[in-house]
Amino acid sequence: MPFKALGLDPKLLQAIHDLRYEAPTPIQAEAIPAIIGGRDLIATAQTGTGKTAAFLLPILHQLLHLPHGHTQALIITPTRELAQQIDDVCLGLAYHTSLRVGLLVGGTAMSPQEKALRAGVELIVATPGRLLDHMRQNQARFDQLHTLVLDEADRMLDMGFLPDLKRIVARLPARKQTLLFSATMPPVIAKLAKEILRNPQSIQIGHRSAPAVGITQAAYPVPEHLKTPLLRHLLRHMDMPSVLVFTRTKMMARRLARIIAGDGFSVAELHSNLTQPQRNRAMDGFRRGDFQVLVATNIAARGLDVDHITHVISHDVPNVPDDYVHRIGRTARAEAEGDAFVLVSPAEEKSLSQIERQIGQRLPRVTLPDFDYKQAVPTRDQRSGHSGRGSGGSGGGGQRRTRRGGGGGRSEGKSSQHNGNKRPSQGDHSRRHH
Ligand code: AMP
Repeated sequence: MPFKALGLDPKLLQAIHDLRYEAPTPIQAEAIPAIIGGRDLIATAQTGTGKTAAFLLPILHQLLHLPHGHTQALIITPTRELAQQIDDVCLGLAYHTSLRVGLLVGGTAMSPQEKALRAGVELIVATPGRLLDHMRQNQARFDQLHTLVLDEADRMLDMGFLPDLKRIVARLPARKQTLLFSATMPPVIAKLAKEILRNPQSIQIGHRSAPAVGITQAAYPVPEHLKTPLLRHLLRHMDMPSVLVFTRTKMMARRLARIIAGDGFSVAELHSNLTQPQRNRAMDGFRRGDFQVLVATNIAARGLDVDHITHVISHDVPNVPDDYVHRIGRTARAEAEGDAFVLVSPAEEKSLSQIERQIGQRLPRVTLPDFDYKQAVPTRDQRSGHSGRGSGGSGGGGQRRTRRGGGGGRSEGKSSQHNGNKRPSQGDHSRRHH
């Protein structure tokens, strides 16, 4: 089915054409007509399915036919990065319209946001905490609100935002369209949906928490103390043009980023101990390919949408299976391919079995013939001394793959660039209307 058949405004069809979206994804095909028809919606869909455009397109379509100058759409999402991504997609899709979008997130100054609110930008993308701050200061006017979107509702719940969400919803007009998106549907979310949605249409896309197709997964059993040496070995010996490494803690992310940088890789770190500008620099640099490796914690990387990630490596096994699915969903975006490796210590085998049960497959276990699994605890100054050179093959067979021909050939050539790259971020928001 072509986008044209969905009845969208020609200005939006032009933007879709510019963005080279050829046909609606399944969630877009279902959600767009329902939303244009005015229905409330409850959709189970993960990032990577095209869900952002699934709600933005019909919202923009509706707003084109409403008087401008008032905030009419409010999109609430758990993290700053997600909010930023939605804002970016919105700017692209609204390019041929005069609709304006404002971004309300923490970690940045309040006053430009207040200005956007006062100007009555038609769409607001917000994280819950900052939005409530503005509401408490009476800066936000939502009396003309037409559509409310709760994006990644399950993650908002995990992050403890449920009370904030309820406070926000209580301050919004009762008569509005509400759209709730969630990767999973735990009972608390189902209950919330019952409370705030009116006769919603239900959409479920794909398997509940199933990994995207195109991802090759493998588990690397390794004693806990050798995880970092193994990770460094993988980075050195495999062709990994763009790698996202997940760690459980911020401290670990920082430590690992330093160690990997010491090996000569270009690395950035992403976690909530950084300021927002630092987080943006890390994201933008990784997106542009300035950094080959991004070391991130779960929460900071939620929803991270970078097309070219070839490898996702989990330095630890997440306790919650859904987190694993989200992590590996950062690769193989938009139907490309990617590899996802998880380093598993003996103590983590149990968590891994839970993940395997959820995804309905057992991950192949890979041991590397040229890695010394018996070595003692590495010392600090073992930065450059690694065991064996190997031929680049990892012995696991089949897990070595790059998607991009060309791609700048960063496999062995490692530019040495540490965190905080110098280039100014570019290309963002020349069209932001505040
Ligand atoms: P999302 O699920 O919203 O995070 O979107 C995942 C990725 O798919 C984003 O990079 C979008 O730009 C892209 N995308 C969304 N809709 C389409 C479409 N109809 N065709 C191709 N790519 C799309």
